[in-house]
Amino acid sequence: MSTAGFRIDAGWVVTPDDDGGVQVLTGVTVAVRGTRIEYVGPEAGLPEPLRSLERVDARDGIVIPGFVNTHNHAAMTLLRSYADDLPLMRWLQEKIWPAEAHLTGEDVYWGTLAACAEQIRSGITAFADMYFFMDDAARAVDASGMRAQLSRGLVAVTPGADRALREGVELFERWHGHDDDRITVALAPHAPYTCPDDFVREVLAEARRLEAPIHTHLAETLDEIRQLEEQRGLTPIQWAVQVGLVERPVLAAHCVHLTAEDIGLLAEHRIAASHNPISNQKLASGVAPVVQMRQRGALVALGTDGACSTNHLNFFEEMRSAAWLQKVTRMDASALPAPEVFRMATVDGARALGYPDVGRVREGYRADLVVLDASAVHMAPRHDVVSLVVYSAQTADVRDVWIHGRPVLRDRQIVTFDERRAVEECRRRGLRLAERAAAAAGS
Ligand SMILES: [Zn+2]
Repeated sequence: MSTAGFRIDAGWVVTPDDDGGVQVLTGVTVAVRGTRIEYVGPEAGLPEPLRSLERVDARDGIVIPGFVNTHNHAAMTLLRSYADDLPLMRWLQEKIWPAEAHLTGEDVYWGTLAACAEQIRSGITAFADMYFFMDDAARAVDASGMRAQLSRGLVAVTPGADRALREGVELFERWHGHDDDRITVALAPHAPYTCPDDFVREVLAEARRLEAPIHTHLAETLDEIRQLEEQRGLTPIQWAVQVGLVERPVLAAHCVHLTAEDIGLLAEHRIAASHNPISNQKLASGVAPVVQMRQRGALVALGTDGACSTNHLNFFEEMRSAAWLQKVTRMDASALPAPEVFRMATVDGARALGYPDVGRVREGYRADLVVLDASAVHMAPRHDVVSLVVYSAQTADVRDVWIHGRPVLRDRQIVTFDERRAVEECRRRGLRLAERAAAAAGS
């Protein structure tokens, strides 16, 4: 594939429109030069200079904007299947934190690269990541070709919080805006239950100075709600407003347990909620009031959370879970229909990460594009292409992926890095982490 550009001749293009819906175009050509889409329309109208671009045949395929995964702890691929079937606090305190104490930067590099492979194969082209050894994570993201908003997770109930904040600031200074804004950086006070107010104010002062956005966790479990109520007499959303976090753009993972007032505050202060339906089910956190949030005008996007809590960085499963959860808890089959879920997975995710030109297949937008092979039996017949993408498509249908105008997956092969090695390293290093945690617990 030349770096000059390419054109995709697509059977269908599915893209969010300007009126809260989703548009389906049939038999169109998408032309890309540099990092951006230059043309979307009938082949006959393709401007002359774009006609000679290398041609990708997707006449039996569906072109969609890449999915935007608004919450991940990418290197937690290393801990997949290590700590299942436990409630959040025991999961963190007994399993995750003791194992993470043995992590190295190289572990995070390979764990992140494995997460990139898994995400790309699921049609995800951009993600928000919160973890540590983030310089190593950034190197992996850079090598993978993915778009990402990175952040150093800040926990201030254990020693080293000041050093962590310094690392978060250094990450911003080193990586924010990298490769024409393919990589951006946020500051990430982990959650109200791990960050005292004084510390959050220090983080906020840095965020103001750097003009950095905030990535955090809010209102994930009832335990968190009770604890905050006892200690500060506030809900997590009230707390975020009162401590001043909302002075910067806030991306809040989970937002499961909300009062009517909380939902109003989310909309008023433009807090973007990252809904993580599989993690919330598996950790028995609860069901986020997605329909009410959207009705009140709050921005709700989709996220996987880390591979240790969701076990599979699979956006098709997340989209379906999001839809099914709203339908079954509201006993209303019309709740959160496929086009709304598709928007949450694409353009709403892009807005949540502060990308003005991502999440649509449209001229001038970044060329973060996915071709779904629509030839499999589960994609027939094609009465409703949006429904097929949201309710029927599988990760195996993801045939090609471009990010920032560059090929990342071609004919189901990752072309930016050695995927086999990433898998092997992830396997080996994950087992070593568990051994070290067990040895430390036994000593
Ligand atoms: Zn999380």
